[in-house]
Formats: sequence, C-alpha cells, structure tokens
Amino acid sequence: MYKCLNCGNTEKFLGYAEEKGSVLIYKNDFDPSSEPYTWVYMVSEKNWDSNLTVNKCFVCNSKNIIKI
Ligand SMILES: [Zn+2]
Repeated sequence: MYKCLNCGNTEKFLGYAEEKGSVLIYKNDFDPSSEPYTWVYMVSEKNWDSNLTVNKCFVCNSKNIIKI
C-alpha cells in the first residue's frame, strides 16, 4: 500500500505500469474505430513479469509518497 504524506490519501495514485508475458492476440471485431487487433494476457504463464511505479498522488499531485 501507498500513502501520500501531503494529504494522507491511501486510495488513488498516478503511476506507470509495465507488464511482460505471453499474450493471445486476436482480431478486434467489436470496436472497428480502435486498433484492428487486441490481446489478452496469459496470466497463468510462469515467467510472467510486471512492474508498477507510483509517481504521484491522484488527489493533490504531491510526489511525497511512501510505501506502507
Ligand atoms: Zn496527496
């Protein structure tokens, strides 16, 4: 969990997520205005790798965030 030292928010933050792993790619027939292909992650994959970085507080934009 994270906490903003400026306003005390523990609920919502802005950050950066990065995920690496096997995906299943399929043709996107549901929304023709978006990408022609979409994908789902194969989350059961053993060599799954994900990375999450919290940058700032969603409420007050403070970067004074601690991990609790
Ligand atoms: Zn805050």
